Amino acid sequence: MAQKIVIKGDVVSSESLTELRTIENGYICIDDGRIAYVGDALPSDYADAELKDFSGMMIMQSFCDMHLHAPQYPMVGLGMDLPLVDWLDKYAYPLEGEFKDTEYAEGVYRRLAKDLIMHGTTRVSIFSSLHTDATLVLMQELENAGVTGYVGKVNMDRNNMPGVLEETTEESEAETLRWLKECERFKYIKPILTPRFTPSCTDELMAFLGDLSKEKKLPVQSHISENLSEIEWVKQLRPECKEYWDTYNDSGLWHDRTLMAHCVYSSDRERKAMRDYGVTAVHCCNSNTNIESGIMPLRKMIDEGIKVTLGSDIAGGDTLNVFEVVSDTVKTSKVRNVYDSWESSHVNEKEAWYLATSAASEWFDSKPGFAAGNMLHAIVLDDSELMRKTLSVEERFYRCFYKRQQNAIRSVWSEGREVYSYR
Ligand SMILES: [Zn+2]
Repeated sequence: MAQKIVIKGDVVSSESLTELRTIENGYICIDDGRIAYVGDALPSDYADAELKDFSGMMIMQSFCDMHLHAPQYPMVGLGMDLPLVDWLDKYAYPLEGEFKDTEYAEGVYRRLAKDLIMHGTTRVSIFSSLHTDATLVLMQELENAGVTGYVGKVNMDRNNMPGVLEETTEESEAETLRWLKECERFKYIKPILTPRFTPSCTDELMAFLGDLSKEKKLPVQSHISENLSEIEWVKQLRPECKEYWDTYNDSGLWHDRTLMAHCVYSSDRERKAMRDYGVTAVHCCNSNTNIESGIMPLRKMIDEGIKVTLGSDIAGGDTLNVFEVVSDTVKTSKVRNVYDSWESSHVNEKEAWYLATSAASEWFDSKPGFAAGNMLHAIVLDDSELMRKTLSVEERFYRCFYKRQQNAIRSVWSEGREVYSYR
């Protein structure tokens, strides 16, 4: 018999970019982890179901972090004085090299997986390092902690760090195949092909990955147009390609199951290609600010009909906490709007939260919001210690991105299971 559970509290659901649904004293009913009902009255057939009573607290969708680098977690806050390429050489690559040691990887990845869940992030798309075994350790640790989503073994057969972080084209291809075979044992974590970015991958490797994506219907994640000197570098490496995106498209890596981080300097033509091919942009405002890349024209990209999600981009980004990523997305959108002479409007909290939750739903075979049929992915947020006597649920929602009490997250649900609780 299906296990029926009722969760009671103030429900907040992101139905679309502009539509926030709030239900004070509402109910979410689940059957074997799948949402069957959301509303303000308890259906009679759930009268005897197990009740999780979070009255007075907000039940919100949990976060999707669609771009972060797991092996960079120990270097959060380091090297913020350097631009992208120098930052990679001086900090990121030497650290990633250490993940050939799977024991070290296990300790870091166990901590990361736990921290993701504790911060209310239940769905992810993550870069590992080039090491197959450490990548499998990462997938296992995420699965153990209750995280759902995608992990990629990084491919990088050129411009890497000899003796520290390197693989030949042959090794990269063979290890990718070995990794894909091993991935079959995971239930909640799936593989995603991960050419680091064009400067790191030969044409041959890119073409191999493009063929693999097509043959095995595998999704792809990478970086694009993050920094001006990076774009110049790509032009030198691939002079036959008109623009950065052509390097991915030429190899079959540019399609509707592709995630591209950054897009800060994507041209009109590149943005049009994102929309036409259904490529998803991952906006990482913390990282783009920290390593002085720039500010993506978020409002413009949304208005143009491009699919946009959010990423913490650890460790260019400095926080795993997506509440902070949401508020920083709003702040950087405001700054961009000022420097664009107020020609548009900034993205607000309701919209940024949509990008951090429902916007990624198609990546996880679900519908936006707490829709019936979705597996439950939720956070219970306690704000009872904050003064709120006369506030509406909507006002409390807007506040939570800026002010939260200690241990505010009381419960986290991932794929219909309660994976964290603080009672
Ligand atoms: Zn990145």
